[in-house]
Amino acid sequence: MGIKVLKFGGSSVADAIQLQKVKNIVDADPERRYVVVSAPGKRFSDDSKITDLLYLCKTHIENHFTPDHVFQVISDRYRMMELNLGVKVGIDKDLEEIRANLKPGVTADYIASRGEYLCGKLAAAFFGFDFVDPAGLICFDERGRHMPEETYKRLSEELKKHEKAVIPGFYGSDVNGNIRTFSRGGSDVTGSLVAKAVNADIYENWTDVSGFLMADPRIVPEAKPIKNITYKELRELSYMGASVLHEDAVFPAREANIPINIRNTNEPDHPGTIISDTPGEKTNIITGVAGRKDFAVISIYKNLMNSEIGFVKRLLAILESYEISFEHLPTGIDTVCLIISNSYLEGKLQDMLEDIERRLKPDSVEVYQDMALIATVGAGMNRRLGVSARLFGALCEAGVNVRMIDQGSSEMNIIIGVQNDNFETAIRAIYDAFVTE
Ligand code: ASP
Repeated sequence: MGIKVLKFGGSSVADAIQLQKVKNIVDADPERRYVVVSAPGKRFSDDSKITDLLYLCKTHIENHFTPDHVFQVISDRYRMMELNLGVKVGIDKDLEEIRANLKPGVTADYIASRGEYLCGKLAAAFFGFDFVDPAGLICFDERGRHMPEETYKRLSEELKKHEKAVIPGFYGSDVNGNIRTFSRGGSDVTGSLVAKAVNADIYENWTDVSGFLMADPRIVPEAKPIKNITYKELRELSYMGASVLHEDAVFPAREANIPINIRNTNEPDHPGTIISDTPGEKTNIITGVAGRKDFAVISIYKNLMNSEIGFVKRLLAILESYEISFEHLPTGIDTVCLIISNSYLEGKLQDMLEDIERRLKPDSVEVYQDMALIATVGAGMNRRLGVSARLFGALCEAGVNVRMIDQGSSEMNIIIGVQNDNFETAIRAIYDAFVTE
């Protein structure tokens, strides 16, 4: 019998009604043996996520306010869940213990982790699964850096002892026994680590979307779902996938060759998207098109730049000194352009430009801060004639001026820069040009 590891995000475990859906999913397949849960998320759009409320408790304590009010809201939600699920896990005792620990000096990691801890206890009792606390199993060093090898060793040894288990996501503990968390959204990482530790056949990541779509549905309302996507394609389309899956969640599963299946708890019959190293059957040349607005282009011109040794190196050293990372670096014979997200430049642009003028003595530097980047991605584009012609033809017909072009050497992506206000038109045009079936 195979092993499936499942992770359910905050909206999937937001209340007893959602947890009933989760139980139905888990019960539907005996291979679904290890379940990782987030802390309860929002039940409706104005609601609060438990994790945000827990961090708010920490802020209160730091500012010498009592966290009682906020903690009361958190406690009420868990008590209501215990009642509505019809389980008895002694939630009152746990809440009392956590309340007693909310004192000056308590760490944000400890407080935040309790959201997953309590949710895990409730879910385990409700499913009839063992509860496995990841403290002592998911290991961090004294500086809070994750230690993967130690984690795999301990997790796999422990999970062998449990036929079926619920494991709270997001946290583990360090070498001194203190609770440590991953960055926000880190339950995805826990799920991936568990999948690798038990050598799962698949890692099902259950959320509130039915996988990825070929384009943003706000721009292309009829955008088709992506059935299969490779890790490389997903990385190229990171503008699109970033909010669905934590970046660090990809590595453990990928290393162990375990496919990740993005699924929707509210639409459990939808197959979602499978992320793996094997490209699936594709009906269209492209896998998806995605992009983001608000990039700056800094265009530097210097006569005979191409024969000046070390010019780009000195330019990049200036960027490094401002802790600015760039997205693309297209070059011409005497020009180099830096494409940088505007968010990196806030409060730094003028100083950096002065440094560039002073240290590189260019003939001109132009800044344009209104650019959108769009990535058209698909392993199917590789070695196929006419892909660029079709793409640029479509943009021309739509009246979109292309300000930058960058094609990866893998021939799997074409990235273009257009004016922010052409962004939606360009995505629409590219989608229509390639998605024909
Ligand atoms: N509860 C944590 C957060 O909101 C971790 C997670 O849900 O993955 O970031």
